[in-house]
Amino acid sequence: MSQTRDLMILGSGAAGLTAAIYAARANLAPLVLEGIQPGGQLTITTEVENFPGFRDAIMGPALMEEMRAQAARFGTEFHPGEAERVDLGSHPFTVESEGRTFRARTLIIATGASAKLLRIPSEERFLGHGVSACATCDGFFFKGKRVMVIGGGDTAMEEAHFLTKFATHVTIVHRRDTLRASKIMQERARANPRISFIWDSEVQEIVGESGKVTGIDLLHRKTGVVTRHDIDGIFIGIGHQPNTKVFEGQLPMDPSGYLITHQGTATAIPGVFAAGDVQDRVYRQAVTAAGSGCMAALDAERYLEALKHAPHPRAANPAKAPIA
Ligand code: NDP
Repeated sequence: MSQTRDLMILGSGAAGLTAAIYAARANLAPLVLEGIQPGGQLTITTEVENFPGFRDAIMGPALMEEMRAQAARFGTEFHPGEAERVDLGSHPFTVESEGRTFRARTLIIATGASAKLLRIPSEERFLGHGVSACATCDGFFFKGKRVMVIGGGDTAMEEAHFLTKFATHVTIVHRRDTLRASKIMQERARANPRISFIWDSEVQEIVGESGKVTGIDLLHRKTGVVTRHDIDGIFIGIGHQPNTKVFEGQLPMDPSGYLITHQGTATAIPGVFAAGDVQDRVYRQAVTAAGSGCMAALDAERYLEALKHAPHPRAANPAKAPIA
């Protein structure tokens, strides 16, 4: 068991690293557990054109490298690995990862979300070569091409609408004949002359050659007929999955598994804060994740101050657990 730290941050995307920059500058010596995808979702994007401060755009991995170096400069400690087990039921909190147990007085959860995928072998083969789960990241590469968007929710509508800026035509493929998307998003998609729909269909196979997507086989769920369509790109827009499994039964979540926060970044457990996509199903931008990471660090700092005057309600033995 390692020493008890003031602050531990789970996740090293835009939220986690921004929290680390703020906390390190406040002398909290944070420890960042980097997670399954160090650097987060931006490491799988190309050019980031909407992060303030980079008028000529910056590559996603380079932006995360800068953030990491900035956090390290002020004394952040980094550990590879993901949180395999956490105990938020007693204070200090404990986090287990790769055979090590960490103890911390405050915790910032910034484990992010991952795009849901169809989980068929051909999808995996063409991921990054014509199959994408992020139109804002990869849409630009489909200038003048034909693309499909899979899904019937707001994400699919938004992705399709965005892609019409580049693609000659966008076809939305939905597995039912009614959309799940909100009325306004449906209407916008239906009114766009560059968008059409294929109903009651699911992806059976993605086909391609020389590492490039050339077509897709769709199975009509009512007739059982499989049809091949020529296509250059496929965007999977079937939603995101917050990375919260390890917190099940310990922290309140909404029905989709997103952590519920209130009054800024506070969770239901005092001293545990959540920032970034793990608690945000709506905005999901690098800059909003960074903003909430900053808020979480400030919230954690204030909470540590308060702990000096009143013990944590879950402290094993408050009298014997003074804060250094
Ligand atoms: P949703 O869960 O709302 O929709 C997912 C869609 O994908 C559904 O139509 C679902 O089909 C389909 N789907 C799921 N799994 C599969 C699969 N394996 N194969 C084929 N299709 C599949 O997720 P969203 O990400 O669209 O939205 C999540 C939340 O975020 C919503 O509350 C939404 O309002 C919000 N949001 C808001 C936006 C905005 O306001 N600008 C933008 C994006 C999201 P089925 O309908 O049959 O279940």
